[in-house]
Amino acid sequence: MALTGLDIFKKLPKTNCGECGFPTCMAFSMKLAAKQIELEKCPYVSDEVKAELSEASAPPIKKVTIGVGDEALVIGEETVMFRHEKTFVHPPGIGILIEDTIGESEIASKARKVDDVSFERVEQQLKPKVVAVKSSSGDADTFVKAVKIVSETTKAALVLISENPDIIKAALGVVADKLPLIYAANKDNYEVMAGLANEFSVPLAIKADNLEELTELSEKVSAAGVKSLVLDPGAKIDNDHFRDVTYIRRAALKNKSKALGYPIITMLAGSTDDPELEMTLASLYIMKYAGIIILSDLDPARVMPLMVLLQNIYTDPQKPMQMSQGIYPVGDAGDESPVLITTNFSLTYFIVSGEIEASKVPCWLCVMDVEGLSVLTAWAAGKFVPEGIAKFINESDIASKVKHRKMIVPGYVSQISGELDDELSDWSVDVGPREAGDLVNYLKQWSPN
Ligand code: SF4
Repeated sequence: MALTGLDIFKKLPKTNCGECGFPTCMAFSMKLAAKQIELEKCPYVSDEVKAELSEASAPPIKKVTIGVGDEALVIGEETVMFRHEKTFVHPPGIGILIEDTIGESEIASKARKVDDVSFERVEQQLKPKVVAVKSSSGDADTFVKAVKIVSETTKAALVLISENPDIIKAALGVVADKLPLIYAANKDNYEVMAGLANEFSVPLAIKADNLEELTELSEKVSAAGVKSLVLDPGAKIDNDHFRDVTYIRRAALKNKSKALGYPIITMLAGSTDDPELEMTLASLYIMKYAGIIILSDLDPARVMPLMVLLQNIYTDPQKPMQMSQGIYPVGDAGDESPVLITTNFSLTYFIVSGEIEASKVPCWLCVMDVEGLSVLTAWAAGKFVPEGIAKFINESDIASKVKHRKMIVPGYVSQISGELDDELSDWSVDVGPREAGDLVNYLKQWSPN
């Protein structure tokens, strides 16, 4: 549970010395509670209070890192049940299941999909991040060979699946430096699995058939010294599973359950033969509350909507999604193409650029940074006004891209056209339609003359 500023203030020296850069200890504690400054900025906090504050201010769901470098998957650290309360922090890692029995070329081909299935949206690269290798053979050599092929094919985070500690140990012998998640400890093997997690310093998944057993297992594995855990509340994906996943989140956040304060892995691969149902379930678990979702395949047509959902759920609702300011060609824009201006709210950009594409009239779309606000809101906030627009246009290179000097402004801000005409002395301003849906007809009739 996050500490309030007052809770923190009670533990500070209260001398108001100002060495932290704030005039009072209270001001410092408020900043600390808002996570806008480090505790280390106050040189007078005792080690005991440091330990107390860092323990108390730790997120109720622990952070777990799987993999290394830029491709590492970070999950956990969530603090709210619902995205509108604050924000969800770390998007779940979507992954593919590879069984070690399918043959070397098929293993490599499936592993490559993790890197090949990649989409760019709102200037973010969206892609799966996990490969789960399963020992279906039950043979350590076969498993190690499959794990090696996967680790040489992709840098994606690895999950090693076997409940036989000997098989897991053999694989860790070759890929422990890649910080894989080992899956899974259960009531029968947890002591040896916990020993492996400690020996190789890797995260460990624990699996049980009900929450009571999972809680008990988590406590035992934690007591054995394993700090980095991932929870699996059961292999059968059904209503009870979905309920349990929600319960785990609630228990961690509301009941401060330390045993359940870890991210969750959901094994959808093999739970159904229906790929559409698998994707539907994946979308549910993106929203509530998986940290890792393992699928049976990564068909781009199915993965893309999942990624878009994931991107939307894991953006901060307090910060509108934005495009970078710039001049964007839509279609094969040339020196006779229309020039339109709009704001950098990503939804506005997608709607306007989509209608331009539908018109089949290549255009230059000037996207102005107004902190992610829509056209009318930005105008009302004084951010999409003639002076600012003129500055943006004059500093951009749009004049070198077209021979004409006509600028189309959104119909919703027709009131700025006169003043903008004055500010942009080299350009004349056309007022476009109010609704983006009317752009198709408007652009077909537009002429630079
Ligand atoms: Fe208070 Fe520490 Fe800041 Fe001094 S440095 S004002 S004691 S918080």
